[in-house]
Amino acid sequence: MIPGVFTYHRPSSVAEAVAILANHGDEARPLSGGHSLIPMMKLRMAAPEHLVDLGGIAALKGISEDGDTITIGAMTTQHELIGSDLLSAKLPIIRETALMIADPQIRYVGTLGGNVANGDPGNDMPALMQCLDASYVLTGPDGDRQVAARAFYEAAYFTALAPEEILTSIRIPVPAAGHGYAYEKLKRKVGDYATAAAAIVLTMNGGTVGMCSVALTNVADTPLFASEAGDILTGSTLDAATVKRAVAAAEAITQPASDGRGPAEYRTKMAGVMVERALARAAERARS
Ligand code: FAD
Repeated sequence: MIPGVFTYHRPSSVAEAVAILANHGDEARPLSGGHSLIPMMKLRMAAPEHLVDLGGIAALKGISEDGDTITIGAMTTQHELIGSDLLSAKLPIIRETALMIADPQIRYVGTLGGNVANGDPGNDMPALMQCLDASYVLTGPDGDRQVAARAFYEAAYFTALAPEEILTSIRIPVPAAGHGYAYEKLKRKVGDYATAAAAIVLTMNGGTVGMCSVALTNVADTPLFASEAGDILTGSTLDAATVKRAVAAAEAITQPASDGRGPAEYRTKMAGVMVERALARAAERARS
């Protein structure tokens, strides 16, 4: 299958890219790694008349730390996330999650910005960004605005991004030193999207949970921030009854489709299993 006809643009600055998008409205789409957009164009599920390749914009690359915030440029590849010493030290759950995306070929080209901007409920990074309470910097003709990852996703492939905006960077507050973390993903085979997955970040004070953040992948039209589950676990000693209540709270907000990955009831149950496994691993990793 081949995509329809389109005009290819390769701007060298964010301002130039935004101007092209503003000029063409709904007929234009940014192109990052192309590993979601190009297959959709080949299937004719997307038919943009103008492709705005962000690959020539150096300002969209890189990972930096400023005080207690880490900023990741939208064009940073999943491979670069995995290789970053800064992320390994401060936000190791990003490396753990990126390693579960697709395969090395896709990770060499696929970007963090494309993964979170796409609005595909199967993508792994959106739930992780909700778990970490990240914000997305969106740049349009009127300048920058920030939208919390927890407020960005509206429905499958519908997000808060306007057609003339580019997601330029992702800003992540650094969790406390010694925090525990885990991303648990059930998939049918290597390279597959999740049947269900869960991200957890927590801190422990002695045997008590100081804070706990939980988010779910691919068990609804959008990633899910499981705030009630996190609230139930916060302040607990992770006793069996509390964990059971938190798992039930996480399962209760899921609305998965029945598809090739299994019936809806099974995927809801697997979301609960992923939460329980991620919780156990995160608690084991946390230093009091
Ligand atoms: P693109 O394909 O270039 O863009 C995706 C969408 O986002 C497009 O609509 C585009 O217009 C928009 N966009 C891109 N960048 C921006 C921006 N900066 N600002 C505004 N809009 C933007 N992903 C997972 O998370 N988990 C998996 O298990 C997984 N498995 C995969 C398996 C296969 C076989 C393939 C082909 C892909 C898989 N992916 C998976 C998706 C992969 O990670 C994609 O690379 C990623 O989701 C999209 O990133 P991209 O850079 O390729 O974006």
